[in-house]
Amino acid sequence: MPPRHLADLSADERRVAVTELGEKPFRAKQLAHHYFGRLTADVESMTDIPAASRARLAEKLLPPLLTPVRHLDTDKGATRKTLWRAHDGTLLESVLMRYPDRATVCISSQAGCGMACPFCATGQGGLQRNLSTAEIVDQVRSAAAMMRDGEIPGGPGRLSNVVFMGMGEPLANYRRVIDAVHRICDPVPNGLGLSQRSVTVSTVGLVPAIRKLTEEGLQVTLAVSLHTPDDELRDTLVPVNNRWKVSEVLQAARGYAERTGRRVSIEYALIRDVNDQPWRADLLGRKLHQHLGQYAHVNLIPLNPTPGSEWDASPKPVEREFVRRVREAGVPCTVRDTRGQEIAAACGQLAAEG
Ligand code: SF4
Repeated sequence: MPPRHLADLSADERRVAVTELGEKPFRAKQLAHHYFGRLTADVESMTDIPAASRARLAEKLLPPLLTPVRHLDTDKGATRKTLWRAHDGTLLESVLMRYPDRATVCISSQAGCGMACPFCATGQGGLQRNLSTAEIVDQVRSAAAMMRDGEIPGGPGRLSNVVFMGMGEPLANYRRVIDAVHRICDPVPNGLGLSQRSVTVSTVGLVPAIRKLTEEGLQVTLAVSLHTPDDELRDTLVPVNNRWKVSEVLQAARGYAERTGRRVSIEYALIRDVNDQPWRADLLGRKLHQHLGQYAHVNLIPLNPTPGSEWDASPKPVEREFVRRVREAGVPCTVRDTRGQEIAAACGQLAAEG
């Protein structure tokens, strides 16, 4: 794991850490204001802190975490994918997408992923390690700074949304992800000040972790990567289904929806001749209606094929028919726009290339 960083700590823990370094407790708030409020980790710019203290505090609480290896821009610059290198050489990625009405960053929670979904580039490499809370938060801070500084065409703007849909299974890195949500959403200077409702945490369906999340008292959107409504196919498409079946996952999701009043986003990567049949659309609609009622929303993701892979996206007419059938069952269904296709946006592909 990386060295301890300011963003790993709660406000109380930051005060203790600063005091242990022989500094006055209020320095914790100053540091937090620079990092979360001014979005900077550059200690030299923190001129309200005496130079001697700055060096000490920087060394112990602001170690460099993520270095950009390269940026890849597409969609006329409105989408920027960043490949990061962590202190130990681990590679991870995040994608910032600017839309007319919002700006969303898709972040990684793990380097690699242990869930082994066969259609996913990240899954093929296995799990390297969990990311620390600060490594997760720092992806968001960087995106917020890029928006504020007008690095994405359209002038200076504000980062509005965060989705945990980059590399990794967020709920397999549970504590650090929850702590990161607090740092992302707590008001400045304790956090970056985004609204919890603008944060989406995705999962392949780790049922005990969904139940735990239900008890956290958060308002984040839960996204369940279902990918098929039947256990037979899901056992191979999303291998964790061998532990927790479709109905158990949907029941846990319903518990979350009822507690929070939030709709659950059902993610479905549409794969040609694998999970795109009309009968599967009907079954999906029926099951979601039965288990989630008005709390379900289906988000179809046209698969972005990895070079050399046997998995391909469904033809558009098949996609349209799938949408129609799900909607006919009374379940809202939309197709996600595929930002970043030209920059190898299939999950994990960029980091896998190194
Ligand atoms: S699809 Fe998501 S959960 Fe599955 S292997 Fe890829 S990153 Fe992991």
